[in-house]
Formats: sequence, C-alpha cells, structure tokens
Amino acid sequence: MNSLEDGRSGTRRDEQPSITFNRPFTAGNEYNYMRQAIDNLQISGDGPFTNRCHQLLEDVVGCSRALLTTSCTDALEMAALLLDIQPGDEVILPSFTFVSTANAFVLRGAKPVFIDVRPDTLNLDEKALERLITSRTKAIVPVHYAGVGCEMDAILEIASRHGVAVVEDNAHGLFGRYRGKNLGTFGQLATLSFHETKNISCGEGGALLINDLKHLELAEVFRSKGTNRNRFFRGQVDKYTWVNLGSSFLPSDLLAAFLYAQLEAREDIQRRRERLWGFYEAHLKAWSREYGVSLPVVPPHCDQAFHMFYLILPSLQDRHALIQHLLKSGISAVFHYVPLHLSDMGQRLGGFEGQCPVTEDISDRLLRLPFFNDLTESQQYAVVNALAQFDGWATKPKSARNTA
Ligand SMILES: *Cc1c(COP(=O)(O)O)cnc(C)c1O
Repeated sequence: MNSLEDGRSGTRRDEQPSITFNRPFTAGNEYNYMRQAIDNLQISGDGPFTNRCHQLLEDVVGCSRALLTTSCTDALEMAALLLDIQPGDEVILPSFTFVSTANAFVLRGAKPVFIDVRPDTLNLDEKALERLITSRTKAIVPVHYAGVGCEMDAILEIASRHGVAVVEDNAHGLFGRYRGKNLGTFGQLATLSFHETKNISCGEGGALLINDLKHLELAEVFRSKGTNRNRFFRGQVDKYTWVNLGSSFLPSDLLAAFLYAQLEAREDIQRRRERLWGFYEAHLKAWSREYGVSLPVVPPHCDQAFHMFYLILPSLQDRHALIQHLLKSGISAVFHYVPLHLSDMGQRLGGFEGQCPVTEDISDRLLRLPFFNDLTESQQYAVVNALAQFDGWATKPKSARNTA
C-alpha cells in the first residue's frame, strides 16, 4: 500500500513521534551534585566539580590536561586562538561535519579548505590530504565521525612532515580508540562536546583537551577573559590582571556538577549504547543486504564510541520516502550534514558542487536512527519492524539486480 493511501494521510502523527530521535538522559546523581554546589555556594566556574571533571577526563582519556568549556564550539574557538590562526591561514577540515568545526577557524579569518571523506567510515580521506596542503596551511581538523577513529597514523605523519598542527574534533568520539589509543590524545589539541545529543551531556558543554603542554598557560588565559586569574589563584603571581586576548569560555560549576554525575556513569552509559548499536546491526544486517542499504563500517583497529547508528540508503528518494514511512509509525529519524562546502556560507567561501563528491553523495543518502541511552528493546524492535515493512523503494532491491 502506498503511504498516501493508508487513510491516515490527513492526521498529523508526526507532531509528537512516540520514538523520538534523541532523548536527554539523567544518570541519577545530577540533582545531588547540583544541590551540593548550591548548598556550598560554589556555582561560578572552576569550582570543585569542574576540578573533578578535569581530573576524571585526564585520568580516563589520558590527555595531559582537560579544561571544561561552555561548548565544543568554544573549545574549537580556543584551539583557533591557541594556534594563532591569522587571516589568510588555511585550515583543512571535512565538509561532512557540524558547522562549528569550520566556524571556529573562520572567525579568526582562516580559509576553510574542505576535504572529502572516505566512503566507508565517512572520516576525512587521508589519501586526499597531502595535495591540499600549501605553505599557508596551519591546521588539520579530523572529525572522528560517529566516534570511529580517523586514520591518525597517516594524518599525523603528513602533519608532522609539513609542520602543521592537528586538532581533533572529538565531539562524537569520547572513549573511542584508534589502535588502542584514546581518541582525543593524538592532536596537540582536541575538543569534546557535552551537548544533549552526545553520549555524555550537561545540556550545553564541552572541553578542550591539551596534549602539548606548551598551550596550557595561554589556554588558561584565553578561557578566563584574558586574565592571569588561574596563576593568581595558584599564588604564582601577586596580582590578577589583563594579560592577553580572551573570552569567557568556562562553564558554571552547576553544569560541571551535572556533568560529573554523567561522567561517573560513563561505563553504564557506554554499555547501554554498545548494546543498542549491536541490536540494530544484528537485526538490520540481512535486511540491509537485501535492499542495498549500507550499515556503518568500523575497521577492526578502531574501538568505536557508539555515538550513533546510521543507514546509507540507495537514493535520496528512498530516504525521503523512508522518513515519511517511519513518521507514520511514530518514529523520528533524521539526517545530516548539509555539506559545508555547499552551504550558503561555504559557497561564499568558494565552495562549489563536485568539490567533495563522496560527501555530496553520502549527505543525500544517510539516515540516522533513534539512538539514546534509555532507548528500550521494544522501541528498537518497533524501529526494525517499521524498516522491514517499508516497500516504497525508488530503486529495485539490490538482491534482484545482483544475485551473484
Ligand atoms: C556537536 C558537535 C559540535 C558542536 O558541539 P557543541 O558542544 O554543541 O558546541 C562540533 N563538532 C561536531 C562534529 C559535533 O557533532
């Protein structure tokens, strides 16, 4: 039956899907810790919970230093300041990413140089990297898409040969590993997001991870309004004054208290997400083969962070029809990213069609399934069943075309 003939086309089932794409999660101790912060009247930045979050991230991730920020966007802006990005500098980053990966550098006057992604992991194509490097290249910003590590061996080798900095946008990849080493420990700098759509969240939040300690002192200054406040509080200087550029990148300790509860629950959260991911993969494997749908590829040397589960459909028409079909079952599935090089801003910066062909193709065909910490097994069955019932394919099933 065609989706428009099922008698429900006049109802607005899509107003409030019963299985949302994302649902914020609380681990249990958020209120307790926020209450402690309030009871102790320690609610500005860099209080006790911020320090606990820093310590935990440093211990668990293994970065030299972690600094909480109000967002991953802010952490990326700090990275651009720390690398002293100047107008005309070039920064190589995937077109297939969130806008902040580019904006943080464009704000400093940099020209974003968009690199295409690999068709398997959707991470930047390291084979395309070297030919994009010029004498103006200041940084490479790999994004560990879906929490699966980029090919860091190749990227670091090329970067070091050309004297270019690497900043990992690790918004998706907290607790993921590449060849046994934690994501976020490869670049001189790395960033995390604790936005409500990420594995670990405080609503809005992030962190700058510092692996090259030459950046630490200025990072503290930039983060504290351009002052030497951190040195002053450690007793290293006798007055607290304006010493450099800066802004206010540090979150309230109330948010750090919320975040600390989630970070403490990280093993439970990651276990839940691993189970959800495994369920989708196991239940969609045969179906995906039959209809020419691709499931996420995780190379054996990558331990992924279980950030999302996506499908790559045969065509844009299939995606459109499938989204409508799922909505009729009360299921919200979404897509991303509009390729940055084809966005309004990207085109004004010189982006053009055909510049990143894999990105352009994938961006039309990718669909993300509901994926959040307390998604239930019966909800996952509902998603899988709804997918199996879809018969509005614009393209013939792959198995009918290729039975070899
Ligand atoms: C979510 C996200 C960001 C931005 O994170 P915020 O904390 O919302 O600023 C940046 N890069 C990527 C790849 C993201 O997914």
